[in-house]
Amino acid sequence: METCSRTKLIVVGRKIFNEDSGMTRSYVLLTPGPLTTDLAVRRAMLRDWGSRDKSFINLSRDVQSRLSALAQAAASHVCVPLQGSGTFAVEAMISSLMSDQSRSLILVNGAYGRRMAEICRRLGRAFDIYETAEHEPPKAQDIDRILAENSAITHVLMVHCETTSGILNPLSEIAEIVKRHRRELLLDAMSSFGGIEIDLGALGITALAASSNKCLESVPGVSFVLCRHDALEKAQGNSRSLSLDLYDQWCGFKNNGQWRFTPPVQVIAALSKALDLLDAEGGVATRHARFRQNTDILINGMRALGFSTFLDDPLQSPIIVTFRPLPHPNFDARIFTQGLERRGFIIYPGKLTTEESFRIGCIGNITPSTMARVIAAAKSTLKDDMGIVGSSTSSV
Ligand SMILES: *Cc1c(COP(=O)(O)O)cnc(C)c1O
Repeated sequence: METCSRTKLIVVGRKIFNEDSGMTRSYVLLTPGPLTTDLAVRRAMLRDWGSRDKSFINLSRDVQSRLSALAQAAASHVCVPLQGSGTFAVEAMISSLMSDQSRSLILVNGAYGRRMAEICRRLGRAFDIYETAEHEPPKAQDIDRILAENSAITHVLMVHCETTSGILNPLSEIAEIVKRHRRELLLDAMSSFGGIEIDLGALGITALAASSNKCLESVPGVSFVLCRHDALEKAQGNSRSLSLDLYDQWCGFKNNGQWRFTPPVQVIAALSKALDLLDAEGGVATRHARFRQNTDILINGMRALGFSTFLDDPLQSPIIVTFRPLPHPNFDARIFTQGLERRGFIIYPGKLTTEESFRIGCIGNITPSTMARVIAAAKSTLKDDMGIVGSSTSSV
């Protein structure tokens, strides 16, 4: 194989990673999405497609069935894609699968749980909030009790990986309780789908919402809801929004395979290629193992530099890590972020409501070797940009 001298090929699992640079990659994105994508994914967008082309309709149908299959749900759940970012899918899921007679219990421990509450408020859908601190998962026994005591609650809404902190909420425990109480579970699996295995049928989940540009490692522009057949059948007339009506969107696909409104054709082509790459890597389990390795290298390296993580290790997802500022008088989070950017890495500020923090993502087309370079860049930023040498707390 011939490679350009600026391109480094790295093999992880069964996949070859093309650590390209220059024109094709300006920065490594260590963010909650959009993320670093493979060059092949971006290249898949180089042609025009008509929305009624047979070839596009087939491509779109194939992407839909592959997305359902990723959640072991090819038979039980329908994939309804939507134009737009992940929030569009969450809003479509809530507005279409709940009715004016529904009442939801929303589990909140971060910004995305709060966003679901805001969506319900705007839609005028009844809801109760069960809130825990941003470093605490919802307690199964509390949910059990609340559902037992409140027969009016028809739906439970939860976030799988709350990207605000990186906490992985206990999906199977909660799903089991919701199923036992015969309520419907609507899941925001935006930052976990494709990177953490989810068996929709076994968990009895009514629907989940996710998007193209997180663990699926494609470009932004399309989101989707995987929805149990019978729930979708009953959804006619629920949505007061035309464009976010999952039922109508689904009917479009059922009738002629076409999108109701202009589809993001290149984005679907990119997603199709990204799904090829997921298969080539060995599927969700292999990708999960890579993200876990990325996370371990990141956390160990940052701890060696004196940083601490916001979450206890058992709660930490392999998706994104929240770090506290270094307890050193010279440390400045802005200089740290800018220093990493000059060295080729984009990280994001924290999103916690209670304390200063910053976040580094572990997902996207990046490998343990990328994470090792991040640690080297962090070390050099501390030393060269802030005069911090060695481990933290021994202040100057
Ligand atoms: C990214 C994300 C969303 C959706 O965000 P968009 O900016 O609309 O794509 C929703 N929930 C979670 C948990 C997320 O990580």
